[in-house]
Formats: sequence, structure tokens, C-alpha cells
Amino acid sequence: MATELETKDETAQMHAGPDAGVKPLIPVAAPVLAGREKEYVADCMESGWISSGGKYVELFEAAFAEFCGVRHAVSCYNGTVALHLALVALGVGPGDEVIVPTLTFVATANAVTYCGARPIFVDSEPETWNLDSAQVEAKITPRTKGIIAVHLYGHPAEMDTLRAVALRHGLFLLEDAAEAHGALYKGRRAGSLGDVAAFSFYGNKIIATGEGGMVVTDDDALASRVRLLRGQGMDPQRRYWFPVIGYNYRMMNIPAAIGLAQVERADWHISRRREVAETYLLLLRDAPSLRWQAEREWARHAYWMFTVILEEEIPVSRDALMARLLELGVETRPVFYPLHQLPPYREAARGEEFPVAEGLARRGLSLPTWAGLSTNDLRYVGERLRECLPVGRES
Ligand SMILES: *Cc1c(COP(=O)(O)O)cnc(C)c1O
Repeated sequence: MATELETKDETAQMHAGPDAGVKPLIPVAAPVLAGREKEYVADCMESGWISSGGKYVELFEAAFAEFCGVRHAVSCYNGTVALHLALVALGVGPGDEVIVPTLTFVATANAVTYCGARPIFVDSEPETWNLDSAQVEAKITPRTKGIIAVHLYGHPAEMDTLRAVALRHGLFLLEDAAEAHGALYKGRRAGSLGDVAAFSFYGNKIIATGEGGMVVTDDDALASRVRLLRGQGMDPQRRYWFPVIGYNYRMMNIPAAIGLAQVERADWHISRRREVAETYLLLLRDAPSLRWQAEREWARHAYWMFTVILEEEIPVSRDALMARLLELGVETRPVFYPLHQLPPYREAARGEEFPVAEGLARRGLSLPTWAGLSTNDLRYVGERLRECLPVGRES
């Protein structure tokens, strides 16, 4: 009796966060700032360059363009405004329609809405969970301007099929690569696969600067337009002359300094995440009642999140499983709600059904996935998860 109480107290203590929330032992995501981040940030402080004028902004942009294998990288305040800048630069405006997957983070559709345009939702493909390229053509109308391909959780979308559809109908193809730094599609990096791409460097992303974003493209004119719009629309040759209405969406020197240090170690970050995913696959390969996102033979998954789906027939609810794992010190996160279910977008979806995305959202959870997890951490997560599942048919 006493031991059980003691254990409980200890557990409660470990989990009691400063803001009365539950503090997990193993967070679902965390940045690893183990390169020259501190040194570069100190340099910003010592030099007094803390706004968007400092040298790290350009250095980070150049390093990130090289990393993606594209000509231009334009940094900005976060991934959401990177999407917004790209859409405005592509000419998206009121009355337009843009095709997006329903299973994505809300920013993908919000950026379309900021332009006065309408997101048109497409269901997911059951294996990779990305927008089902076979369903895109049926959604095209005379108002359709383009397609946003989201590389969900780090697995690239089926870009060749999407590109063919875009070409056939004169549409743009924008990559929302916020979750896919370093992912490969047929040997080419995410960010180099469409007309333009948007990245996020939010603290939980594969490359993290706190808040931060980047628009990348090979298109010179588009890159200039994005730069113009990012800096209030000011003519680069003529100070305080504003030919268009722009935005103040610039990145500051301090996050850019962190970003440069992160990109310098990008290969390490990417390979560590793959090791994490490969360890989970080993630990869970014969786990009953679970499946996970496929990795296509033409893809290298960047594993922003290693995500599992509970089989339909098991008597454990996803939410109950997440709550139990949290008690055991393992933070997880649910798969996004499909956007057509959210109040701002429910009406626009016109009662259409998106059964694949709905199923994934109901039964999916992401396990802790970040570069600093040890093998012991992963084993702990794998074992706790297996304990919470009903015993399978074969075991
Ligand atoms: C994180 C994310 C964004 C938005 O990035 P922020 O930097 O948080 O604004 C956009 N799209 C997807 C798919 C994301 O995961």
C-alpha cells in the first residue's frame, strides 16, 4: 500500500508543471540547439544587430536555398506568412479557389482565406495520408488558381501527378513544406518540387528558429515579388516609395542566427529523426492493432512526426490511450482535425465527406519525435504503448 502511494506521489511530482499543467517526462517535440546557435545569437547581441537588418538573415537565406537546391530563399516571420506571401505573389485574390488537403495544419487553408480566396478540400490517400492526387482534377472549376501540396508529417506528396494536373489546367503548384525539411521525392528535396514552397521553423519543426518561415523558389520574378511584399512593398531602388501594399513579414536577425546554425547541422537533424523512426518501426513492428504512415519507395520521409493509427476494431479509444500515456510520462499528440470539420470551414465543405481523413484523425496519434531522443526514451515509449494496447491475435 505504502509503496503504491509513494510511487503515485513521485509520479505526481514529476508531472506537476509550473503552470499546473501536466509536464511529461518525454515531450512529443523539442528543438536541439547543439551547434553554433549560442555563438551566433551572442554575436547578434554583441553587434547590436537584433532586427531584420543583420547579416544572419542573408546567411540563413543563402544556406537554406542551397540546402533545398533552389535559387532563391526569402525568409519571413513564420510559416503561415510564408504561405500567405507565396499566394499573394502568385496572384491569388478574392473569388479564387485553391485546392488543399483537408488533413493538414489549419494554416494551409487560413493563408488562402487571408487572400479572400476559398480553400477547396480534398480527401487523403490511405497509405501516405497526403492529398489524394487522383481526386484533385474533379475539384477544378473555372475559378481554381492552384494546388497546395502539403507533405504531411514529412512524407512528400505525389508531386509528379499533381504537377501534370497543374500543367494541364494552368494552375500553380505550391508546396507547404512546413513539416518536410530534407524530405526527398525521387531524389529531390522538398522545396524544389513545385513552383514555390513555404517552410516553417517553429520551435517544434525539423529545423527550428523559434518562430520563422521561408519562401523558396527557382522563379526569379516570383522571388522578387515575395521580397517586395515582405518588406511593406517598398521599392528596393527608391526608399519610402511603395508601388504596392505589402506586409511587414520580415525575419529578425536572432532567429536567422539560430536558423543558420541549425542548417549547418541539417544532415545530423535529418538522420537522427530517421533513426528515431527506424527504432519505433523495430519496436512496434509486430505490435497488435497498430499501423503507421507508409514510406513510398520513391520517398524519403523526413519524419517530422512518427504517427500511428489504431486499427478500427480495437476497444481502446485514441483519446483514452493518449491520456494513459501521458500519465505514464509520454506526451503524444492527436492527428489534426480535418479542416472541413472546423467551424470556419464547415460550410465551405458543403457537407461533403472525407472518410479517409476522418478515420486518420479519429484514430491517429503522433509519438515523441525529435532529434534528441535516446534509445532508452524510445524503448520506454514503445513499451508503454504496447502495454496499453489489447493483446493481439497472434500473441
Ligand atoms: C507548422 C505548419 C505551418 C505554419 O507554420 P508556422 O511557422 O507555425 O506559422 C503551416 N503548414 C503546416 C503543414 C505546418 O505544419
